[in-house]
Amino acid sequence: MEYKRPSAARTWVEVPSDSDFPIQNLPFGIGQRSGELPKVCTAIGDYVADLSVLAEHGFFDDLLVPRPVFHQAVLNDFIALGKEKTRAVRTRIAQILDDDLEEWDASELRDFFLFPQTEVEMLLPLQIGDYTDFYSSLEHASNVGAMFRDPQNPLLPNWRHLPVAYHGRASSIVVSGTPIRRPQGQTLPEGQNLPVFGPTRMLDFEMETAFVIGKPTTPGERVSTEQAEEYLFGMVLFNDWSARDIQKWEYVPLGPFLSKNFASTISPWVVTLDALEPFRTAGPAQAPEVLPYLRVDGEKSYDIQLEAHLRTADGVEYLFCRTNFRHLYWNMCQQLAHHTINGCNIRVGDLCASGTISGITPDSFGSLLELTWNGSNPIQLPNGAKRTYLEDGDTVVFKGFAQKEGLRVGFGEARGTILTSF
Ligand code: MN
Repeated sequence: MEYKRPSAARTWVEVPSDSDFPIQNLPFGIGQRSGELPKVCTAIGDYVADLSVLAEHGFFDDLLVPRPVFHQAVLNDFIALGKEKTRAVRTRIAQILDDDLEEWDASELRDFFLFPQTEVEMLLPLQIGDYTDFYSSLEHASNVGAMFRDPQNPLLPNWRHLPVAYHGRASSIVVSGTPIRRPQGQTLPEGQNLPVFGPTRMLDFEMETAFVIGKPTTPGERVSTEQAEEYLFGMVLFNDWSARDIQKWEYVPLGPFLSKNFASTISPWVVTLDALEPFRTAGPAQAPEVLPYLRVDGEKSYDIQLEAHLRTADGVEYLFCRTNFRHLYWNMCQQLAHHTINGCNIRVGDLCASGTISGITPDSFGSLLELTWNGSNPIQLPNGAKRTYLEDGDTVVFKGFAQKEGLRVGFGEARGTILTSF
């Protein structure tokens, strides 16, 4: 049998050339067809592949992967098998879908395990025990610091020495497509001394990605930057919806609370680090030099294009911003090493978000707070309407994909529509 580089493989499933889901991607998610139970799935072109069907036909038996693991409502048990097993499953799926590997050909089974994406509802793919949100974009932290503190000195003294983060709320993380109810809360109107209560008037998005923990640690155990990738199962798109007026009033001294914990949206497909490997690249140079436990060797970032789109209730489409994951100052290995340096344990399915990812140019800022410069510079939409912050009926769609030499590996969408406050 001739060995083919994975990047050269072709599949017998028709895959549009601009698809996020070629045979080189094969992300994992949880899909549910009408009247069926949720199953572990992968995506190929415009199809969702039900892996439980392949498992029941014995396609994974020789890998010693138990069949029930594909009949779960979340990916946690599958991920917990460990990277060696999940990687073997992904390789086997590629063999099954490969157009000239007869040994594992499942094309005759296609009607039993391949379903159009439109027929499959994608569910929240993880039981998320804990969620941490970092603040790792130099451009974002500088923009926010310039607006709210000192344009000459926007970063706090710790920022270049450690990846700043806070513990977020896992219970309100929802999958793409889930509507977002405009939250209510306390805000302090400009120039007044007493707060008022009501719906947020400054509802924002934050363009982020998140990594999924794939291997647990015990309390007291540390993960070094060198070991970190073993603990990272994959990545999703992440929208950290934020109510800026609530945030501004509540966040001192302990950071954001109700301004962010009402909802966060993730994309349904977990893209493995293996699939992103061809897009590995160096992150920004770090100065001053970081402490030894945060030092990394080699390229630790990925070239992933990120876009935030607006779709208004009356059908206007607008590109809010286009940025790139590789701009992040702190990489995922450093984030995880820092997270565990005090002995804090991590569990399979935990989520660590990047923080808003902004680029250098104003069209690459990853939030409306920055795009409108704290509301002082409203966005003009093609139909003449304006946006400072999100309005009821607005839909925000995140897209993310890596592209190089004809190979495209993408995340699909993380989408949410704003509903009127009750
Ligand atoms: Mn955030």
